[in-house]
Amino acid sequence: MTGAEEKNQQYDLMAVIGQIKAITGQKKEKPLAFCACYGCRQNEADTERIKGMLENAGYEITESPEKASCIVVNTCAVREGAEMRVLGNIGAFKKIKEKNPELVICVCGCMMQEEKVVDKIKRSFYYVDIVFGTHNIERFPALLLKKLKGKKRVFEVLDGSSEIAEGLPVKRNSRFSANVTIMYGCNNFCSYCIVPYTRGRERSRKMSEILKEIRGLAAEGFKEVTLLGQNVNSYNGGGGDSFAKLLGEVNKIDGISRIRFISSHPKDFSPETIKAIAECEHVCKHIHLALQSGSSRILKLMNRKYTKESFLELVEKIKEAVPGVALTTDIIVGFPGETEEDFEETLSVLEKVRFDGIFSFIFSPREGTPAAKMEDFASHDEKQARFERLLEVQNAITLEKTTACEGKVFPVLAESVSKEDERFLTGHTDGFKLVHFEGGKELIGQIVNVKIESARTWYMKGQIV
Ligand code: SF4
Repeated sequence: MTGAEEKNQQYDLMAVIGQIKAITGQKKEKPLAFCACYGCRQNEADTERIKGMLENAGYEITESPEKASCIVVNTCAVREGAEMRVLGNIGAFKKIKEKNPELVICVCGCMMQEEKVVDKIKRSFYYVDIVFGTHNIERFPALLLKKLKGKKRVFEVLDGSSEIAEGLPVKRNSRFSANVTIMYGCNNFCSYCIVPYTRGRERSRKMSEILKEIRGLAAEGFKEVTLLGQNVNSYNGGGGDSFAKLLGEVNKIDGISRIRFISSHPKDFSPETIKAIAECEHVCKHIHLALQSGSSRILKLMNRKYTKESFLELVEKIKEAVPGVALTTDIIVGFPGETEEDFEETLSVLEKVRFDGIFSFIFSPREGTPAAKMEDFASHDEKQARFERLLEVQNAITLEKTTACEGKVFPVLAESVSKEDERFLTGHTDGFKLVHFEGGKELIGQIVNVKIESARTWYMKGQIV
């Protein structure tokens, strides 16, 4: 039977997990599992599910791969250079397996949706036991069980989009802030991006399932949820359940004080969504709106389906409806064919919009995407020089934004103890600005009012008031 046929069969996940637990329960000591995760928040959310399934199957999660009986590597395919690093890191587990032949090494995620990568693992990474893709995470326990029952190697990668598996166990990385996936896949085919090929077409979860999950989180004491999707603005839960409606419904859930969402595609940002952000008191007034380039010519080559002008119009509408909104964005520098004039258009959008922060990258071709075949005239040095100019312009704007917060009081979710100084906690404002402030561990998970005393480009310091 093929993996797809098995997947379509009635699959009792908890029964399979129970069978693994019967095996792990025979061990003298509780077996440990180590999970490595690369890439985006969606991969983080998938890894939380993998950890949840492992815990239910009798494993304890460890931070030490050397002590583990099971290692899972959740890979990311977005950047080609990073793929090589991931393969290098998987290679490092070979030594651990030589010392402990019973170790089960599993590799999953976006890279496994690429045939050439799976072939490479089959041929050269003989110590990898289990491979699965992005469309069958819920099948992981079934594959692990096969391996534990003696099968030598188990490969199950499915093509195309799949039904959404609901109700998987999950081990959250935080006890107050949770990722909630609202949709999978992407239909946009931006010319530089591999995601539609590795994660398939858009599939939205039913709104009732999302709300059930968030009500459960609220009951457990979670304060913040981040709604995840490659393009949350095109969420379609069926029967008229849009993203705007979803924001309104999540906003009604008692106990959830902060609702965040990523990522937003400018072409699908509806007036209804803007209205919902403005009206819902718990929806954070922070929008990450990926611009990528300020040149309409380059945006066309990127297949982004908006222009510089329509992006600026959208920003104006958002700023008008949501006063004080914090905006952040992504910029790709040096896309094939980008001229000095195109780059200057990007700088002019930064000057006009005055984003609170940007994530910027120098373009690197991703094999398998149309942009990888486009002619590219600018040299790496030219791109590097543009990248540095971009940062110089944006850093000044970001500092201007953080400096404007001095003397003001902001509610901040206390998230962790500062790595530099244990007397300090770190957290974020509603607008996603990083704040360090004095406070004890007992405040972690609470929203406290902090008066900002000093600002730097990437963080602010303050005192609880
Ligand atoms: S919207 Fe574009 S960049 Fe984002 S995941 Fe889809 S194809 Fe990739």
